[in-house]
Amino acid sequence: MKCPTCGSLEDRVIDSRTAGDGSAIRRRRVCQSCSRRFTTYERIEWNPPLVIKKDTSREPFSRDKVLSGLRKACEKRPVPADRLELAVDKVERMVQESGETEILAVRIGEMLVEELKQIDQVAYVRFASVYQEFADPSEFAKLLGTKESESRGVE
Ligand SMILES: [Zn+2]
Repeated sequence: MKCPTCGSLEDRVIDSRTAGDGSAIRRRRVCQSCSRRFTTYERIEWNPPLVIKKDTSREPFSRDKVLSGLRKACEKRPVPADRLELAVDKVERMVQESGETEILAVRIGEMLVEELKQIDQVAYVRFASVYQEFADPSEFAKLLGTKESESRGVE
């Protein structure tokens, strides 16, 4: 694996374990040239469905995009990175198991909103507010309404 720091192809695996729910192998590697440590994940290859966006353009489902969306929503929140990996694993699996060749972006947004709801309330509302761009506004209002009554309950 090419070292992200020096580009050397010589590395040594120093740790190897299953990640997420066992659907991936996580390997810690150390570069033989510069000693940089980095992590790789090995997963079963699959052809991701196309995601249909609001403007009806399509792009392949991207695990990385989903993960970076979640990371953004969880910025400065006490959410472990592993927890987000697990959430993305779950959403990816649902998309996989749907067997669809195309899936609406709004559908993926719904899955993520559901996951975030169980992870972190602030991140949940943040994500939901981005998600409103492509969701039904009445649905979004309902989401916010739920959040407000819940936080009032806690205070
Ligand atoms: Zn290196």
